[in-house]
Amino acid sequence: MTVAMETIRSLRAVTPQNTIIEAQHVGQRFTADNGTELTVFDNISFNLYEGEIVAILGRSGAGKSTFLRALAGLVKPTSGTVKYRGEALTGPNPGIALVFQTFALMPWLTVQDNVELGLKARGVPRAERTKLALDAIDMIGLDGFESAYPKELSGGMRQRVGIARALVLRPDALFMDEPFSALDVLTAENLRQEVLKLWSSEQRSIKSVLMVTHNIEEAVEMADRVVVLGSHPGHLIADVRVDLPRPRDRHSVEFEAMVDRLYAILTGQASQPTQQAEALSPSASLTNAPVTDASVTDASDLQPAKTIEKIKEHPLPNATPGGLAGLLDVVAEHPHGIDLADLASALSFEVDDLFPLVDAGTMLRVIVVRDGHVQITEAGDSWHKADILRAKQVFASLAMEHAPLVHNIEHALRKSAEGKLRGELMLDLLRARYANDEAHQQFAIAVEWGRYGELFDYDADDDLLSLDEANKGE
Ligand code: ADP
Repeated sequence: MTVAMETIRSLRAVTPQNTIIEAQHVGQRFTADNGTELTVFDNISFNLYEGEIVAILGRSGAGKSTFLRALAGLVKPTSGTVKYRGEALTGPNPGIALVFQTFALMPWLTVQDNVELGLKARGVPRAERTKLALDAIDMIGLDGFESAYPKELSGGMRQRVGIARALVLRPDALFMDEPFSALDVLTAENLRQEVLKLWSSEQRSIKSVLMVTHNIEEAVEMADRVVVLGSHPGHLIADVRVDLPRPRDRHSVEFEAMVDRLYAILTGQASQPTQQAEALSPSASLTNAPVTDASVTDASDLQPAKTIEKIKEHPLPNATPGGLAGLLDVVAEHPHGIDLADLASALSFEVDDLFPLVDAGTMLRVIVVRDGHVQITEAGDSWHKADILRAKQVFASLAMEHAPLVHNIEHALRKSAEGKLRGELMLDLLRARYANDEAHQQFAIAVEWGRYGELFDYDADDDLLSLDEANKGE
């Protein structure tokens, strides 16, 4: 190794002095309303260092916000420890300030009063408060709006107030929880650039930024390091360095390659796990990992915990059969496959908007995704080419084979005396493994898939699931 390289290494060396936050084996459990225990995330170890922007990337429900709140000292983890500058947290983390997705401004206070609020709580004298607030307001481009009330401001301006309110506290680390998700595309992009500009300015006081996002492109645009969380429960699957030069060009080959790589990690499709992913979780399996045939063939009963476990491990993605057929139409136009980024832009969506459809397609084996490249399978092709009646049959047999919950409901109905069961019964079983809202969502998706495949139907008025007439004879 050359001396120059060694010097670079030692400059980058991680020392206790530049470690801002250290989380070790942190886990979070909650007891749901019905008394069942919900593990939101488990055994996450993570350090935040000076000089970096880190994105925590994961799907909705992976536990990202709860993890951020644990690092912020706003919730106490049920296992593991969080330290700030070497000291274990016993309450709110004194070194961070938080920017919320929903801005969380006080509507009855002016911009300036909103920004001063945290300083007031810290007992900072009025004259100093005013000066610090005006500086922060200037820094984020809000000068002239000091006396405005939140309702007079656009969403983008409100989030600027949210950022100023955090900056004014001069935190060691700025925490941002999906800060741009509530904004329209252009405003969000504009504000991302502002934050990056602030980050690279000479007079910045913050030493690190930690942001939660479900948006892969946003993570690649902003972060020096992307920490990927898998779901059910949340767990660390990769810690990926993003070394692209700034400003980053979303259309460059390198940018798109990084998006594809993170996509592959996030969906468990990485053909070669990254070094980090391997080290952190050799068996990283995500909820949409392909269902093995064995996992459904013995789903022979309504009740056993094993069956429920399979259903939990392979939740139905929130996609409709019609939407999936539409996706296949587009993918089928590309016999050699298409990059997800191109597919997303062909449909004018962002890559992560495609998640449920791509997950559903992967679960049913009508597409395969490798390293961000999606291709139609033989099964997909026969569904795509079939007429409507035949398409329903193909879908039904794929769902029966690869979607445990659909299989389970069909099987239970077939075993019941008159081919009928109460929906509440299914919901209660689902609630044993899912939070209430999720149980309802899973039930609704299963009914939609069952109906389309003419496997079973659901009458909401009578709360009755029944085998479809067309499916009774077999
Ligand atoms: P993400 O930010 O990745 O979308 P969240 O951290 O918001 O995920 O939530 C993950 C899961 O934790 C959700 O299912 C949510 O309902 C659950 N959860 C979060 N906080 C609580 C709580 N206080 N009580 C019960 N469940 C909770």
